[in-house]
Amino acid sequence: MARKSACADIWHVVRYSDMPSDRETVQRKRRELHEQMRALAFEPLMRGSIVERVRKCGRPNCACARDPSARHRGKYLSVHLGGRTQALPLRQEDEERVGRAIAAYKRLWALIDGLTECELSDLRREARERRRARSRRQ
Ligand SMILES: [Zn+2]
Repeated sequence: MARKSACADIWHVVRYSDMPSDRETVQRKRRELHEQMRALAFEPLMRGSIVERVRKCGRPNCACARDPSARHRGKYLSVHLGGRTQALPLRQEDEERVGRAIAAYKRLWALIDGLTECELSDLRREARERRRARSRRQ
């Protein structure tokens, strides 16, 4: 339950339209995102996706050899790593753990997006301030 609400917070933080531009608010958001990033460092994290595959087992006497509806279904973890895609058969009892690790990876990217927005916000504000200072001098 606590995990869920923490996740919802992150999504709230990175919604771009919510992004305020004053220095203090951006700094507060940045600290908040870094804090969430540190919390994420204690969780298993991985890239990849869980896919379902339907296959023939190869035994000539199995029903799957003739009947497409009798083909075997199984879940796999698919990961592109080191230049190749690897597919690991996934046991049902590992599915939740792997799903959580993949979710943590996605949350990390959401945090990176939020931090990127903080930097953009600062750069935009600084450019505005420079423009204003220039027009005052003229
Ligand atoms: Zn079969």
